[in-house]
Amino acid sequence: MKEKLKIAVVGAGLGGLTLAILLEKAGYNYTVYEQAPQLTRLGAGINLYPNTTQVMKAIGLLDQMLAVGNRPESWLNREWDTGRVYFAQLEDEWEEQFGAPHLHLHRGDLQSILSNAVPAHRVQFGKCLAGLDEKGGMTRLTFTDGSTADADIVIGADGVNSVVRDILLGPELPTYSGTVAYRAQYPTKLLGDYKVGSDGAKFWSDDRHPAKEDRHLIMYYLTKARDEIYFVTGSPDPNFEGLSPVDVDHAEMLEHYEGFHEDVIRLIKAAPHISKWPLLVRKPLSLWSRGRIVLLGDACHPMKPHMGQGAGMAIEDAAVLFRCIDTAAGDYSGAFDLYRANRFERTSRVQALSNRNIWMRYPTDPTWCYGYNAMTVPLVSPARQVAAGQQATAA
Ligand SMILES: Cc1cc2nc3c(=O)[nH]c(=O)nc-3n(C[C@H](O)[C@H](O)[C@H](O)COP(=O)(O)OP(=O)(O)OC[C@H]3O[C@@H](n4cnc5c(N)ncnc54)[C@H](O)[C@@H]3O)c2cc1C
Repeated sequence: MKEKLKIAVVGAGLGGLTLAILLEKAGYNYTVYEQAPQLTRLGAGINLYPNTTQVMKAIGLLDQMLAVGNRPESWLNREWDTGRVYFAQLEDEWEEQFGAPHLHLHRGDLQSILSNAVPAHRVQFGKCLAGLDEKGGMTRLTFTDGSTADADIVIGADGVNSVVRDILLGPELPTYSGTVAYRAQYPTKLLGDYKVGSDGAKFWSDDRHPAKEDRHLIMYYLTKARDEIYFVTGSPDPNFEGLSPVDVDHAEMLEHYEGFHEDVIRLIKAAPHISKWPLLVRKPLSLWSRGRIVLLGDACHPMKPHMGQGAGMAIEDAAVLFRCIDTAAGDYSGAFDLYRANRFERTSRVQALSNRNIWMRYPTDPTWCYGYNAMTVPLVSPARQVAAGQQATAA
């Protein structure tokens, strides 16, 4: 059965590759279609919290990630100008409690470890999906180069501008949130003798900031050797136009962060190159699947990245979707309903919280978020969820 079922995964991003690894391990017949001609070490940093590294541990890749990434000894939530610490995250305590670490990586290194775990013949690069047609029990994928492929089920892991989503729900661009992320990564040696105050930190503005608007800067090392450093911000920019990143000069960013702590100013000044990314969002989608087509990750629940959980949710989705497919016994529509029923509430909660940018500023118990193990969490059927909801209402 597994070998006969043809699965198409659209997108070799963080969610799509995690799903591919799980399908590979279980002996499925699948192909990943990726629009890019190849994967490159472009991009930025990524924060993986215990709910995400738990999945990496289960698929056997955590040790490789720990060999290249930085497991922070400290992560400080700090006041924007004085640097006063509001809350030092309990890194060791949480690793022990949740059985998996907090980890910082270069996104390209993460993607490369994931893609190396997928046999080369399973990933087709340069395949940009343009259309899907359901015919005779199969779905035909059409790519922009005119080629086609057939599959029994299609998983849209094609990110925030998902074509699969557009096909399911009609074309609709994601919404610009009004906030941009300034980003830069570079060799730590460019900071000269200056030492930043911790392995990782978030500098939060408050009412004393003259702009009276939420803005922050997050910094951390990208490598275990701490020889590459990264920053990413959340900064209001109501006038930003377009949906793609642009390069900016230092003066613009320094103006936004005037008066911030010296770590922040030094990090900005030392950056050889800074880019500015519009942060895109969507409201929680009512529909995640139709027939043999289903969505995961940013394709169905993109969010502002302020909680560091966008990739985490895509990776959790991949794990839960795999488990639902694996127990489906041919009923894929049922499997997709089970998947959504078990993911909708959690991803919507994270989406809403991440968009508000309040997570971890002050002492926080993260158990509901970091203590979730997508590989083992019991899967509750949609019918049982409805019954539980009715009981709660009656009570
Ligand atoms: C500034 C910023 C900082 C972030 N920081 C963090 C963080 O610290 N921690 C965290 O967990 N998350 C973070 N995120 C969010 C995270 O990057 C995303 O949530 C995550 O990458 C989503 O994974 P995905 O697999 O759904 O999509 P993606 O990783 O975006 O992958 C989609 C893939 O689909 C491909 N594709 C697209 N269209 C097509 C097509 N038509 N045909 C074929 N292939 C296609 C793309 O090329 C890409 O490879 C951040 C995001 C931003 C913007």
